[in-house]
Amino acid sequence: MNYSDWVSTHGQKHQTIMSRLTHLSDSEVIEYFRFENMVKNEPNFCPLYSKNKKCHDIEILNCYLCACPNFRFDDKGLYKKDGKTVFSKCSINSKDGSTFESDDSVHQDCSECIVPHDERNIKSIFSRDWIDIVIKKSQFIPKY
Ligand code: SF4
Repeated sequence: MNYSDWVSTHGQKHQTIMSRLTHLSDSEVIEYFRFENMVKNEPNFCPLYSKNKKCHDIEILNCYLCACPNFRFDDKGLYKKDGKTVFSKCSINSKDGSTFESDDSVHQDCSECIVPHDERNIKSIFSRDWIDIVIKKSQFIPKY
């Protein structure tokens, strides 16, 4: 599955969950997407839930904005740089992002970045329509 297909599938899962949360306020929706609650009530949302494993080791890990709206990706490559194809990048150049590089390719490495999982950031661009946030590619400014 390429990234575009994954976003589409993930967006459908997100919408299905949201259709059951219409009685909750925005704050309650964000709280609902905390890791511990999602493991318990939405076990199919992320493959890591079955292992009770967090993708980032932080106390309050929120899954609402996975995938990160700042992640830019093209399966055919975004552009060329120094003879390498750049397949993905961070639109805000997060200080905690880095890259994986091979002889001919560059990929964004988000493994040390918690920007999309921090509730202050989620609140700052919150929409009940996750696809809207991701597709419109909001500029997601970290609050720290
Ligand atoms: S480095 Fe952080 S802000 Fe940038 S795309 Fe990755 S997770 Fe998002």
